[in-house]
Amino acid sequence: MEETFRDSLATVDRQGKRSWIYSQKPKGKLYNARSILSFLYFLAFFAGPFIQLNGRPLFLFNVVEGRFILFGAIFWPQDFFIFGLAMLAFIVFIVVFTMAFGRLFCGWACPQTIFMEMLFRRIEYWVEGDAAAQKALNNASWNTEKILKKTSKHVLFYVLSFLIANTFLAYVIGVDSLLEIITGPVAAHTGGLASMIIFSGVFYGVFAFFREQVCTVVCPYGRLQGVLLDRDSVVVAYDYTRGEPRGHFKKHADNNLGDCIDCHQCVKVCPTGIDIRNGTQLECVNCTACIDACNFMMEKTGRPLHLIRYASENGIANKQPLRFTTRFRLYSAILVILLTAITWMLISREPVSGTIIRTAGMLYHERGADSISNLYQIKLVNKTARNILLDLRLEDAPGRVELLGHQQIDVKGEQQGEGIFFVVLPRTAIKKRKTALHITLYAGDKKTGTISTTFLGPAQ
Ligand code: SF4
Ligand code: SF4
Repeated sequence: MEETFRDSLATVDRQGKRSWIYSQKPKGKLYNARSILSFLYFLAFFAGPFIQLNGRPLFLFNVVEGRFILFGAIFWPQDFFIFGLAMLAFIVFIVVFTMAFGRLFCGWACPQTIFMEMLFRRIEYWVEGDAAAQKALNNASWNTEKILKKTSKHVLFYVLSFLIANTFLAYVIGVDSLLEIITGPVAAHTGGLASMIIFSGVFYGVFAFFREQVCTVVCPYGRLQGVLLDRDSVVVAYDYTRGEPRGHFKKHADNNLGDCIDCHQCVKVCPTGIDIRNGTQLECVNCTACIDACNFMMEKTGRPLHLIRYASENGIANKQPLRFTTRFRLYSAILVILLTAITWMLISREPVSGTIIRTAGMLYHERGADSISNLYQIKLVNKTARNILLDLRLEDAPGRVELLGHQQIDVKGEQQGEGIFFVVLPRTAIKKRKTALHITLYAGDKKTGTISTTFLGPAQ
């Protein structure tokens, strides 16, 4: 097959100018299923910042303060290795999932596709009409109707982008801080207001103008398809063994022709402007609009459905059922190992963590004839929501801890605390210039963590 279609993008013409895609409004079972799913998705997205668990938001991604909340559990920069592993597991999951099911995520769960196809495109159909009406409106000269339609569409687009941007910000800074920005004096929240305007502008620009180009030229996941997919990956595919040779529909069946009646309905509904009959392409976001469109035509012409369907190349060419390759099994095993490690880390995560440093510029103090002391600073992070009173103990060395100023360190829930203390060791316990020490943290009788440091003594 001639593969020249792979040399250019459907959204760019030969002169390098943008070709606007006028895709027809899809309809069919899969579109209905995607509509229901996206409705649930919007509900979860817009309600998410308001849902609280144990007095905290369900999710918070405060990159500015380094504070993250997932399903009500708070994570600090000290938990970064869990995040690192989680990111790694997420990437491996994407690889495994894509190898098996192609870009299923793009069509059914990606925020870009869902917002574009299920919100913005619907508003466009509602205001300007279907593809042909949109094209006619764009080509028409500016008259009252065009001005009215274009203005209302863009006002609606901007309002929606503003809502999305605010919800997005609520996930980053929390609903309370967002409300403060909205209701407080402008001068006190210039940074917050600027972020709101910038985010709204970016969303508006993407959904009103840039559109499907996000999937074809920006999204790194889309660009990775070439290396992630293989002949066993299930993607939205045209069954060329059944469809070819294609030919226009005739009342009396022509036995020399395949089932494709070359009606171009699959092309007309495609939001990225491609012809899926050319084979799997970088631009295809697996939105299933072409499956619905083709099924409609098959039904109309009394042919079996699913000429375009979810299938692998091996499934179509060799009629092989879905099979899991060695590569797939290997990545799955890595994913299981990573998930096990993350689960173990989450279960064994200490409620309080911290660091101890010997006070800068100080060596050691002689304490009478038989003891030596070192001065330390401790910084603690309370990862729980409750206040914790902490004792410091020396368990693996014959000495004592002397906390300065207080009997215990008070670390408020989700806050940081600090203290200064001496460790006093008998000279007999000091065998070298630097001795390893472990300071154990106790909340009442409960051990909550151990922090390592070193004790400096006289040269031996
Ligand atoms: S080819 Fe089909 S599944 Fe792929 S983007 Fe176009 S309409 Fe959606
Ligand atoms: S919708 Fe189906 S029948 Fe029509 S051109 Fe596409 S593949 Fe062929």
